[in-house]
Amino acid sequence: MNVCRIFSLAVGIFAATQLAAQSPSPTTLVKAGRLLDPRSGNVRSPAAVLIEKDKIKEVGEPSRVQANAPAGVNMIDLGTATLLPGLIDSHTHLLMDDIVAPHEAERARHLNGGYAPAQLLAIVESPSKRVLIGAQAAREDLESGFTTVRNLGHSGIDGDTELRDAINAGRVPGPRILACGRKLETRGETYVQNLNAALADAILQQEFLFIDGADSAREAVRQNVFHNVDVIKVTAEENLTVPELAAAVGEAHRNHLKVAVHAVDKISIQTAIDAGADSIEHGNDITDEQLKQMRDKGMFFDFTPTSYGDFFTRVFEATIVEDLTLRPERRGADEAHRQRYNDLIQQIRNSWLKSPDEFDEQDNQRYNSLVQRVLKSGVKFAAGSDMDWHYPGKTRGQTSVGRFPTLHEAGMPSLDVIRAITTNAAEMLGWQDRLGAIETGKFADLVAVAGDPIADITELERVRFVMKDGKVFRNDIQENQSK
Ligand SMILES: [Zn+2]
Repeated sequence: MNVCRIFSLAVGIFAATQLAAQSPSPTTLVKAGRLLDPRSGNVRSPAAVLIEKDKIKEVGEPSRVQANAPAGVNMIDLGTATLLPGLIDSHTHLLMDDIVAPHEAERARHLNGGYAPAQLLAIVESPSKRVLIGAQAAREDLESGFTTVRNLGHSGIDGDTELRDAINAGRVPGPRILACGRKLETRGETYVQNLNAALADAILQQEFLFIDGADSAREAVRQNVFHNVDVIKVTAEENLTVPELAAAVGEAHRNHLKVAVHAVDKISIQTAIDAGADSIEHGNDITDEQLKQMRDKGMFFDFTPTSYGDFFTRVFEATIVEDLTLRPERRGADEAHRQRYNDLIQQIRNSWLKSPDEFDEQDNQRYNSLVQRVLKSGVKFAAGSDMDWHYPGKTRGQTSVGRFPTLHEAGMPSLDVIRAITTNAAEMLGWQDRLGAIETGKFADLVAVAGDPIADITELERVRFVMKDGKVFRNDIQENQSK
């Protein structure tokens, strides 16, 4: 049995143990050495949180809160740990698990730089299989501390809305999901060109709703409303017009839905600003003037530091290792064969990434500058992992949460990183009255880390305790006790 399999087996057993351990109790008292309020940056020490059913009833000094707790309250003492609000990943793709594969030759043969076999496969495979993959990713996200995620597309027609409902009904564990259904976009710029022309529409309609004029934009929003979505996602490319996007935004707002717009280049970003989008996703090429316009309109900038650092190089290498370990004949039995294989991998890797270090360094410097400019502009911001990659040896939650400390590497203060995935994200989602802070009346979504996440932001990658809706889904610190 290889390392990856042992690891995933261990994760599975761990998850089963944790899920069995959760005991719905009407009232719970959680005590911890520290409690961080991301909004103010204040730390309460020590702290206690009284939870009734799925809501926070009281937060304060332990002896006072405990005095107000009823007899028989379920007690959880987290010792010296630091409590934080449950984490929010405001841009993810739970129903995608793409493999980064050495497919450069495949790309060249298709004369098509955008050809991504894994993304096409996800659409044409069984939607039932896909939603089960999504259920696994959801559970793994929750185990890593994400109590809420906004799922922004690539879920088939109703995969994310159904997964959301299954989680809400308690059929499968996972974060609270804000689902967007199908992404709206214009024809032309999809990830899966060169399809059989006779079948292309039937395939693409499983994943996207196409905009061609303002009326079709409104109709696309209504289609998603029919599937009971929580948010509208639009991919803006240069050929999307302001009237088209404004029609989608108007229809969404009439239905009390916010609109998240994928926009990377300057023209698409301007379209999103002019059409009154609620958030701009990615936004990599934004100018200072555009940031000023966003600030004046109260729009959110959603950072997605997905590729920051050497992320894809690491995923690629882990994929190669997994590939080797999954093929018994390559495992050292034939050292010469293995060496030839490694050489081939190196060649493909060099052609794929050109010079990986150089590529990463330029990319990182551009991102550092983006982070600085957004912070300086005063525009509201949040952050999402934009995760849809299979990272061998890591759970989806570990892969996703590992993206956020990179914002600190890019120059964002730790407290702002935490705000981006708690209070700020809650406001961007329009759920600031229910999420994002440990306050009376809010959902009892809490996580705890052993150390101080302001001093060491990588503490976010080592969440030890997860409570969602007042139910404990992970507790590596202490088992529940009765008073
Ligand atoms: Zn995305």
